[in-house]
Amino acid sequence: MNLVLYDTMTRRKRPFEPRDPARVTVYVCGPTVYNYAHIGNARPVVVFDLLFRLLRRTYGEEHVLYAANVTDVDDKINQKAADEGVPIEVITRRYLDAYHADMSVLGALRPTFEPRATQTMAEIIDMIGRLIRNNAAYEADGHVLFNTQAYSDYGKLSRRPLDELIAGARVDVAPYKQNPADFVLWKPSKPGEPVWDSPFGPGRPGWHIECSAMIEKTLGLPIDIHGGGNDLIFPHHENEMAQGVCATHDAEYARYWMHNGFLNMGAEKMSKSLGNVILAHDLVSKYPGEALRWALLASHYRQPLAWSEETPVNAKAALDKLYGALLRAADVEAEAVEPGAAFMAALDDDLNTPRAYAELFSLAQQLETAPTGERGRLKGELLAAGQLIGFLKADPEAWFQGAADPAFRERIEGLIDARARARAARDWPTADRIRDEIGALGVEVMDGPNGPTWRKPT
Ligand SMILES: [Zn+2]
Repeated sequence: MNLVLYDTMTRRKRPFEPRDPARVTVYVCGPTVYNYAHIGNARPVVVFDLLFRLLRRTYGEEHVLYAANVTDVDDKINQKAADEGVPIEVITRRYLDAYHADMSVLGALRPTFEPRATQTMAEIIDMIGRLIRNNAAYEADGHVLFNTQAYSDYGKLSRRPLDELIAGARVDVAPYKQNPADFVLWKPSKPGEPVWDSPFGPGRPGWHIECSAMIEKTLGLPIDIHGGGNDLIFPHHENEMAQGVCATHDAEYARYWMHNGFLNMGAEKMSKSLGNVILAHDLVSKYPGEALRWALLASHYRQPLAWSEETPVNAKAALDKLYGALLRAADVEAEAVEPGAAFMAALDDDLNTPRAYAELFSLAQQLETAPTGERGRLKGELLAAGQLIGFLKADPEAWFQGAADPAFRERIEGLIDARARARAARDWPTADRIRDEIGALGVEVMDGPNGPTWRKPT
C-alpha cells in the first residue's frame, strides 16, 4: 500500500507509516446520543469507515484497531432526560440503538471499540489526577481546569497564537480561571444531573478529557490516526492533545490528524435555527443505504459537501448506471480478481473518492463494450472495487425493484396507501403532493383492477 494522507498538523500530505504495522490504531470522535443523527453527522462515520476498510485490507483485519467514542453524559442529554422525566440511560440507549441501525444501513462497519464516557469514569478521573500532579491542571471553586500556560505547544494544531485564543476566550471568562484560555476537566453537577465521586469533589467530566482518557484506555497513547470533523480542530482536538501530552509526557499524541469538511445545505449551514436539518434516520427509509453512502463520499472528504434534495436522487442514478451494467452482464461469470491499480491509486491518494468513482464508471463502460473473453475479468474487477468501498452488494435485479431495501419498499407502499386515502377523501392537493413525492423517488405507480402496483423502471 502506498497510502498518503493529508495531515492537519503539518498541513501537507504524508505517506502513512504506522508505528507498528501489527497494531494500527485509529480514533474518531463519535456521537453525542441525545437525538437522531443528522446527515452531516454521518459524513465522518462513512469517511473513516472507508479508511478503516482500506487499512484492514493492507494490514489485515486483526491488526487494525478502530475506536469511536459515544458521549453519553452531556448537557443536552441531561436536558432531554429532564424534559421526558426519565433517567439519562433511557435517552442514550434509544438514540444509540437508532444510531447503530442507521449507520449500518450506510454500510459502516462497527468500530473495534465504542467506549462510553459513563463507563470510562475511573480512567477519566485518573488522567485528571495525573494532570494535577504534573502541574498541568489546578483545582478552583469545585472545578478542575487545564492550565494552558503549562503546555508550550498549545495552539500548534489549530495554528492559532495563544494571545488570539485568549482574546477569543475573554468574552465570558469564569472568575476561577488562571488564564482565559484554560478549559474545564471536571465540574460540579447541577442539581438533578448525574454525579460521580472524585478526589476533586462530586461532579462530572468536561467533554475534552473524555476522548483523551478513552484513547488511552482502548488504544493506548500515542495513536496512529486521529480523525473527526474540521469543526473539532479547535478547541476539542487542541485540548485533547494538550491533555494527552501533559498526562503521558510523550510529545506525540497522534501521528496523523485527519479532518473532514462540513456538509452544508446548499449555500447554508445546516442548523436547527434555519429549520433545514435533515436526519440520516429519515433518509434511510427513503433511499437505499448504498445511495446515501455514495452521496456522502461523492465529494473529496476534505472538501465541503453541498447537500440538497437531489443529492441522494443523483447518487441513486449514478449507482443505477453501475448496477445496469451488471444487470446486462448477468450471464457473465465474474472472475475472482483484486481491484485494479488505478482504482487503488485513487484511494491511496488521500482517499480520492471522486477519482475512484470515475474508475468504477470506466470499468462499467468497458464491461458493456468489451469482447466476451474479457468480460469475466472486468465484471470481477468492478465488483471487487465497488465492494471494497461498500457498494454493489445487492443483486442487480433486486436493486432496480427496490427489493434490496425493505425500508424503501415499505416507504413506497406507505405513500401509495396515503395517496389512496387522500383520493378517497377527495383531498386532491394532498394526493397530488404524494404523487410527486413518489415520482421523485423514481417510482412509477400503475392503477389496476386490483389496486395500484409500482415499479422502478431500469
Ligand atoms: Zn474527541
